[in-house]
Amino acid sequence: MADWRDYLDKALAYHGHLCSGQILGLRVVLKGLDLLGLDPKAQNRDLMLFVETNRCLADSVFVVTGVTLGRRRLWLLDFGKAAITFLDLNTRLAFRVAVKSTVRPARDEKDLVAFWGRYGDDEVMTCQKVVVPLKPEDLPGRPLRRVACPICGEDVSDGRDVILPDGRAVCRHCAGHGYYLIA
Ligand SMILES: [Zn+2]
Ligand SMILES: [Zn+2]
Repeated sequence: MADWRDYLDKALAYHGHLCSGQILGLRVVLKGLDLLGLDPKAQNRDLMLFVETNRCLADSVFVVTGVTLGRRRLWLLDFGKAAITFLDLNTRLAFRVAVKSTVRPARDEKDLVAFWGRYGDDEVMTCQKVVVPLKPEDLPGRPLRRVACPICGEDVSDGRDVILPDGRAVCRHCAGHGYYLIA
């Protein structure tokens, strides 16, 4: 398994500071790849990642794997948890790796690399074999479905439209599930 210390410079450059979230994130991502038997230096085009936070830890996904949001292989599921699920579309194997809450550095800890280096993987994270049920429209590749919302006129891809009781396929916003209000 690759050493998380080899990624510290890249993490610092990408994330802007070196924090526990980065260090743990590197370790979580490397562990997830290792469980799937994937080489972090390879392209791993069949790897999908389900990230449960958009805090520091999330940036380590790009630092290690190079996967960006626009590839449709990186999902943000804002559960507010320091955990990532790794799915190999080739084998359908999936593992969820979560940071344990038992170990925490002091607020004024000066050397986070040395601090976290004192703990083994089993002490800082848990791993579960999981199944991620995905629909065909959730997979990378060309959109299987694209409809124009009859209310706002905007296109909706990937089956994210909502069918109203009157049969019209509208966008989530127009169906009442929007996250914004028109100002
Ligand atoms: Zn950070
Ligand atoms: Zn709409």
